[in-house]
Parts: sequence; structure tokens; C-alpha cells
Amino acid sequence: MKGRTFRRMMAVVKPFERYAPDLDAYHRRARTGPCFVCGIVARDPGLPAHHVVYEDEDVIAFFNRWPTQYGYTLVAPKEHREQATEDFTVEEYLGLQRVVYRVAEAVREEVGAERVYILSLGSNEGNAHVHWHVVPLPPGVPYEEQQFAALMLETAGALDIPEEEKASLAARIGGRVWRG
Ligand SMILES: [Zn+2]
Repeated sequence: MKGRTFRRMMAVVKPFERYAPDLDAYHRRARTGPCFVCGIVARDPGLPAHHVVYEDEDVIAFFNRWPTQYGYTLVAPKEHREQATEDFTVEEYLGLQRVVYRVAEAVREEVGAERVYILSLGSNEGNAHVHWHVVPLPPGVPYEEQQFAALMLETAGALDIPEEEKASLAARIGGRVWRG
């Protein structure tokens, strides 16, 4: 899986290889496995290690395990809630978005993003625990490889970032969130 797109994106991001994760296994887990966000909050030893960037009483932020971009972070309420707006009061929602803002600024500053994409996806059938994707777009990515193409594993592949590097980046971003 070393198409032209991957090579071009690699040149402008970081010197990490990109690879194609097993998307069938990913979707199977997302649709039939236990809630992965609740698992991370509970530090479920059965889950692979996740790099937590920030955590407070109500909110947790951690790295996407299959990052299409360097610094790809997810922000979620620690309680299992599913609907992005319906399951929150306005005050709860704004409290959560305050953390999304701080995480986005920390990520942007740390990795030097040209844009930061922020969106909530999920489905009632899989990845139901609501979370916000905070995704930095590095400078220099060709227009046709920005936006959704830069987010999706199907088009961008996953960056193969060593665990030590993820831990270091999580600490650097986390430090900025706390200071912010
Ligand atoms: Zn959950």
C-alpha cells in the first residue's frame, strides 16, 4: 500500500511510514466490541495502551490508535453518552467544547498545523460513545488530499508512529493543554 498519494503525503508530514490497518477487523470491533472509550476511561487492561493527552473529572483526551495525521486526538466525555447535543445540557456541552478548544490549540501549536479539523462522527451501530476528532492538517498537503481525504484511513492510511514517540508527543500536547 504505497500509492502515489501516500508517498506525497509522507513527504510533507513527518518521516513516518503509512500503512493500511485491517479495516474489516476495525469495523467489526467498533460494531460488536465493548465501548472503547469507556474501556480507556476505566483503564481496561484488556485494551491496547492508549496515550492519554489530558483528563479531568468530566473529559478525557487521547490519541487515535490509527492516526491519519500526526497529533490526531479524540476528546470525549468520560460518561457514556451518545448524541453529540441531545445527551448534554447546553452548559455540559459548552464545558466539553472548552476542552476541545484547549486540546485543539495545544495540538495546533505543538505540531504546527495549517488547519485543525474538529468533528464528531460515530454511529448508533458502532463507536457510539460520542467523541470529537481533533485533527491537525500539516502545511503543504495538496488540496485534493486535504479535508476528508486527510482524515480517512481508506484514503490516507495510518501513520506508523513508534509508541515512545506517541508517549512523548502526548506529554508535550498535554503540557500545553494544562498550561492553556
Ligand atoms: Zn462508553
